[in-house]
Amino acid sequence: MNCCNNKPVIALSGNENLCKSHFTGYFEAKVFKTIRQFELLDKEDSLGIALSGGKDSLTVLSILNKLSKQNPKIKINAIAIDEGIKGYRDKTLEHATDFCNKNSIELHIFSYKEEFGLTLDEMLNALDVKPCTICGIFRRYLLNKKSRELKLTKLATGHNLDDECQSILMNQLKDNIEASARLGPKTGLASDKKFVQRIKPLYMCAEKEVATYAFINGLLDNFRECPNTPQSFRAQVRDMLNGMEQKFPGTKNSIINSFLQILPLLKQQFKNGAIKYCASCNEPSANEICNACIYLEKLREKI
Ligand code: SF4
Ligand code: ZN
Repeated sequence: MNCCNNKPVIALSGNENLCKSHFTGYFEAKVFKTIRQFELLDKEDSLGIALSGGKDSLTVLSILNKLSKQNPKIKINAIAIDEGIKGYRDKTLEHATDFCNKNSIELHIFSYKEEFGLTLDEMLNALDVKPCTICGIFRRYLLNKKSRELKLTKLATGHNLDDECQSILMNQLKDNIEASARLGPKTGLASDKKFVQRIKPLYMCAEKEVATYAFINGLLDNFRECPNTPQSFRAQVRDMLNGMEQKFPGTKNSIINSFLQILPLLKQQFKNGAIKYCASCNEPSANEICNACIYLEKLREKI
């Protein structure tokens, strides 16, 4: 059923077809409802938005920018990480910079090369590791450290419903349930002065919805995918979930809804795993030495 006489841009489950204007309203209302329902924001927040230049992060930045205009007590800054992936990140960062310039949003860019002495490409030449494993460890490390140094109260990411489903399933498949306890619309198990809490305003939005919102609102650049994506375990789980969703519509929503029911129990179960500080760099860590320092040491031995 169509929403009005305008041309539909998306078919939602439940046989509802929405035009550009009705879909934009529907999508933004869904994000604002997620923010309220999971209490993602406080009355005053100095928010960082982790910006990659892709559709998810630009969508979340664009919506939070609208929100901060309506509510001046919510301040926003964009933070981008340049991992050093030739032919990919340089292009997406150009797009991110353009968007921030056009919308007068302050953008802070930090690079692996400057912080760790090597680009991701150089790290991957030196070590035999899965690209996304090492890339994710250094990105999370840098985002947290820099957000804290910038005195941001929270860090919003563009994770959507599909990303969360993949993470839940990946943790199950790898027998890593404690990692699932740190998921959810607000990440982490305990608050800590050195840990900037992450929030996921797109938590209830499917990938297809985010892509449509980004497309109709002019947020998409030429579609680019990281050259390391095909190797990732996540990409295989994503394909499996997409196949299931096609055969059994509603699969992803069911995973998220059931996960939200058990999440409080998981958080309770693992809440005593206190955050420690790395003996080498003093950043928050689950172990005595953080993963970033472990890999940096391995890189030093090789180079
Ligand atoms: Fe890094 Fe993997 Fe993402 Fe590429 S796909 S940016 S290597 S985490
Ligand atoms: Zn460390």
